[in-house]
Amino acid sequence: MAAAVYFAPVRSVKKRSMVARVGTLLERAGIAGAIAEGDLVAVKMHFGEKGNTGFVHPVFVRETVARIKQHGGKPFLTDANTLYSGMRSNAVDHLQCALQNGFSYVTVDAPIVIADGIDGRDAVDVRIDGEHFESVRIGSAAVHADAMVVVTHVKGHEATGFGGALKNIGMGLGCRSAKQRMHADFKPEVLAEKCTACSRCVRWCPVGAIAIGPDRVAQVDFETCYGCGECVASCPYAAIAVQWKTTPRALQEKIVEHAKGALDGKDGNTWEQILALECELNSDVEAYVKNDHLGFTIPYIHQGRSHSYVPDFLLRLKCRDHEDVDRTLIVEVSGGQKSPGPTKVKSLTARDSWCVAVNNHNGFGRWGYVEITTMIGVKQALAEAITALYDDAPIIGDPDLLDFNEVARGA
Ligand code: SF4
Ligand code: SF4
Repeated sequence: MAAAVYFAPVRSVKKRSMVARVGTLLERAGIAGAIAEGDLVAVKMHFGEKGNTGFVHPVFVRETVARIKQHGGKPFLTDANTLYSGMRSNAVDHLQCALQNGFSYVTVDAPIVIADGIDGRDAVDVRIDGEHFESVRIGSAAVHADAMVVVTHVKGHEATGFGGALKNIGMGLGCRSAKQRMHADFKPEVLAEKCTACSRCVRWCPVGAIAIGPDRVAQVDFETCYGCGECVASCPYAAIAVQWKTTPRALQEKIVEHAKGALDGKDGNTWEQILALECELNSDVEAYVKNDHLGFTIPYIHQGRSHSYVPDFLLRLKCRDHEDVDRTLIVEVSGGQKSPGPTKVKSLTARDSWCVAVNNHNGFGRWGYVEITTMIGVKQALAEAITALYDDAPIIGDPDLLDFNEVARGA
């Protein structure tokens, strides 16, 4: 369905100012129905760069803030940090830039909260099951807001043609590493002359793909690297190069997927929230963790290229009486709309190869894998997988691939 578009001419008629028309536009667009009493309302902004005028002037933003307050909302201005170094790549400089361009509590009557925090890593994974990304990382202030009003200046853009509201939301609210993922099929390149061997990227790489080499320069293991872009965002010396190679079409699709993540917000993680609740309630679950930045990955090959699969959850089961065996269940919460090709390969690899290999090794306890594709039957699917793991039942298509009777080979 096409969206309704409301338009106000700049030309002055009937002695109505442009500022007053901004208020009218917001009312016509339905701001009353979008905000409930007490809602935290993110006003998505672009605060401009130092010395330019390419942003919506604070007087219009002040009117937007006033209208939100009239409807009971608690507005705050927000934007996420930029990937490129400059005056908006961290929250301190970003706020300074906003101030220089006229945005302050005094001028707009609302606080400014940088969406992805002090250094661009305060972000939330929002599951979207898109063509390019299963989940996207969105600045947490935007995700946790109750409502959003998007204030956009339209502009030309070298890669997307035009930049409008979708780009303002998608590219604008993705955290720094998300911006990298949108902009490139990423392969980080360490600039040896800038690297100080501080090891910050080593600590932040979620899959342990970086090490400091004998020449005191960070080295990337491209077999392990999956292109998340965290290292670019984490390096304080801009010693990891930003790659800008991607097609305009792919870039626009990625922007739209991030816009979806920003708009879905908390609801985008509903499935994972339900699974977490089931884990809390299941008496067989000793502990569980969302597999985020833990470094637990499963290598797999899809269309001739090697990748690293990051499953969603790890569940540690309680030990049964008279047993001293650790049992861990890998849980993937996938959803039916996920692109079937890589999803199927990942699941098959995890279930039929990885778990089989680890179980046959006999040194890391027993592992099982379940992919949950519908939330309606999540309780039963989880219970069945747990029972199968306790029973050492085959979790594979071919039971012969499991051999728990083999002599232990040690950890
Ligand atoms: S964070 Fe930057 S400077 Fe530090 S080791 Fe990594 S690449 Fe080198
Ligand atoms: S892009 Fe991500 S996975 Fe690759 S080296 Fe950097 S932090 Fe590690």
